[in-house]
Amino acid sequence: MKIVVIGCTHAGTAAVVNIKENYPDSEVVIYEKNNNVSFLSCGIALNVGKVIDTTEKLFYSSPEALNSLGAQTKMQHEVLNIDFKNKKLSVKDLLTNEVFEDNYDKLVLTLGSWPIVPKFEGGTLDNIVLCKNYNHALNIIEKSKYAKNVVVIGAGYIGVELAEAFKMQGKNTTLIDAENRIMAKYLDKEFTDIAETEFKNKGVNIVLGQKVQKFEGTNTVEKVITDKGEYNADLVVLCIGFTPNTKLVQGKLETLPNGAIIIDEYMRTSEEDVFAAGDCCVVKYNPAKDTRYIPLA
Ligand SMILES: Cc1cc2nc3c(=O)[nH]c(=O)nc-3n(C[C@H](O)[C@H](O)[C@H](O)COP(=O)(O)OP(=O)(O)OC[C@H]3O[C@@H](n4cnc5c(N)ncnc54)[C@H](O)[C@@H]3O)c2cc1C
Repeated sequence: MKIVVIGCTHAGTAAVVNIKENYPDSEVVIYEKNNNVSFLSCGIALNVGKVIDTTEKLFYSSPEALNSLGAQTKMQHEVLNIDFKNKKLSVKDLLTNEVFEDNYDKLVLTLGSWPIVPKFEGGTLDNIVLCKNYNHALNIIEKSKYAKNVVVIGAGYIGVELAEAFKMQGKNTTLIDAENRIMAKYLDKEFTDIAETEFKNKGVNIVLGQKVQKFEGTNTVEKVITDKGEYNADLVVLCIGFTPNTKLVQGKLETLPNGAIIIDEYMRTSEEDVFAAGDCCVVKYNPAKDTRYIPLA
């Protein structure tokens, strides 16, 4: 049996390890467009705040480790198209630009998610960065060495952690959100009031109820302009939320309106022999006994 896994951060790594443990004779091929596997994004803020000293400590597996389990790890290979009917894939080797075909008996989609990036005027200025993968982590840490004024946009759990980390590094830190509370999706007001007071006492500029409209600067960002104010910035991190990375299967599999792949309790998608896991699909949400898009590890 040949099993192809597309994407290899957490869901992909977990799938490969479990498949090889339970079905050691299966042939497993991994296609991952990045040059690394298993990066723990949840440690980026700890790395920025120097709680963890090197970004490389945020990996718990490697292509070599997966190869040693008997999987074939094809790094820097992007799957361009899937023909579900004929169980075929079109794959591009990103190093040589060669495009070739492969086939599968079973397919595991662990395509993940990508940060939401609204089209802001000035959004292409330098030093407006994302926070998701290893390369983003290196970029944030390098740029923050020279930044005095850091603006974090989005006060969800990632923005809040980063604001704390930047402040720990002595940066003038501003945390902006359109909601009237930080972490509004996660905690009730009685808790967020306490957290907001803590942030303010530590000198973080908390800007709530304001919508970012544009960025100003010559080549590099200098200011963040909202509907009610403007804030100096030489580094901006966008932490607005995530969208499932499922363009590859758009219109081919059943999804929620946001593109999250719908799976059943056996993680089967609407196509036979095709499974999905992680940030690219829905999860069962026990409190409400339904399924939802919750992109968390
Ligand atoms: C800053 C940050 C902090 C976080 N903190 C927490 C936390 O504290 N707790 C928690 O539970 N969760 C946290 N999360 C969320 C958690 O990291 C994600 O839920 C998890 O990474 C999802 O793993 P995944 O493997 O499903 O997807 P991803 O990590 O998105 O990986 C998908 C992989 O698929 C690859 N891929 C996609 N398309 C293709 C293709 N066509 N061909 C080849 N490869 C492809 C991508 O390159 C990528 O490596 C955090 C996330 C971030 C960004």
